[in-house]
Amino acid sequence: MQMDASLLSKYNVPVPRYTSYPTVPFWQDNIERQQWQDVFSQQFAVHNPREGISLYLHLPFCESLCTYCGCNKKITTNHGVEKEYMAAIAREWASYLSLMNEAPVIRELHLGGGTPTFFSPDNLERLLENIFSSAKIHPDHAFSFEGHPNNTTREHLQRLYELGFRRVSYGVQDNDPEVQRIINRLQPLENVRRATSDAREIGYHSVNFDLIYGLPLQNEERLRNTILQCIGLQPDRIAFYSYAHVPGTSRGQRLFDENDLPDTETKMRLYRLGKSLFTEKGYQDVGMDHFALPGDELNMAKQEGRLHRNFMGYTTQATQLLVGLGVSAISDAGVAFAQNEKTIHAYYAALQQEQLPVMRGFFLNEEDVAFRKYILDISCRGAAVFQEEHLPLLRTYSFPELEKLADDGLLQWDEKGLEVTALGWHFIRNICRAFDLHLLRTQQEAGAPRFSKAI
Ligand code: SF4
Repeated sequence: MQMDASLLSKYNVPVPRYTSYPTVPFWQDNIERQQWQDVFSQQFAVHNPREGISLYLHLPFCESLCTYCGCNKKITTNHGVEKEYMAAIAREWASYLSLMNEAPVIRELHLGGGTPTFFSPDNLERLLENIFSSAKIHPDHAFSFEGHPNNTTREHLQRLYELGFRRVSYGVQDNDPEVQRIINRLQPLENVRRATSDAREIGYHSVNFDLIYGLPLQNEERLRNTILQCIGLQPDRIAFYSYAHVPGTSRGQRLFDENDLPDTETKMRLYRLGKSLFTEKGYQDVGMDHFALPGDELNMAKQEGRLHRNFMGYTTQATQLLVGLGVSAISDAGVAFAQNEKTIHAYYAALQQEQLPVMRGFFLNEEDVAFRKYILDISCRGAAVFQEEHLPLLRTYSFPELEKLADDGLLQWDEKGLEVTALGWHFIRNICRAFDLHLLRTQQEAGAPRFSKAI
């Protein structure tokens, strides 16, 4: 299958990653807290406990700033902050428990950040045991965490394993010393190797590496070395993300000399290089920049049509409810989203006043729920079946886009539904966009939300 440069260039337009629909820029500030609580409570009461819920914990502290970073984080070397933050998470969890009519069954759990391994193994254990003491654990659970190769100790891995974690994701980004110096993330390959072999020895069955292309000073030779070194360690999954240069919102990026950033042409060559190396070395393209070895659960879920997508990206556990705890974390009640306060100060202040710290969100109407399902079906299964009652909307907004995508061989469609082609999987974000009514309606307007380019 040829993925020619002109097609890549044509579809390299700003497009969301669709971890939610509607996407975050369309949400409302200052959502009605009581309304969110009511919706969450109602949705919990009708959810299927056998399906369980998902939980995301945002642990924002990092010891030093990686200058490319666009995450919500707090840089500090003072580990005294751990206790106060754990108490806040415990308080927030207690507030959610009060909205549930029975003990929740936790099926999926992810620790993200920031750097979850900033916390000591003892503190992580205390934090999680407090949550687990008021919940049940689903027999088919999937627990994962993000580990920094520089500070993930064997003790972290062992304790989390004993608590049920079987998947770890390491932020590798780039192994080249010059690139690491400019992004202020000095991380010897030996640390990645050690953290990976420790995880395997302990019994983790899935190790993921995050890599980034488009970083300053990256070139094809450096990226090739990084990728081959990583593949040598045989991670089960690789996420290959595009660096998004947004110095307006990510202040650390202002430290870059923009002349050191690869130009668009080079960035596309880096992207093509990565994709071809992964495929050559036996990884399969899951979609949305994720690659996995054939035996990995994510790949098997894709083959069997069991893939799901939420704020944590692709997952194999299709739950309808996601509780996000911690600063900036996002919760999903199926028909509504809520995001927590983005500064630790505001997050603590809301909890001290015994309020849920939610600040932005969105309540979906029927149209949103229907089009959210189309986007989920396309991003997870590469196919969608159109409902007759949506045809007027589809004809107005989606079908003109599908015609163009079909002309380029990315999908086949008629008024009954669509199927993404093998080539189309490389452009899955662009295909989902054809069902993003919020974006399509505003795309002509000045001030429409901006997203990072597909590549
Ligand atoms: S990239 Fe990760 S470790 Fe680095 S500053 Fe951002 S959140 Fe912290």
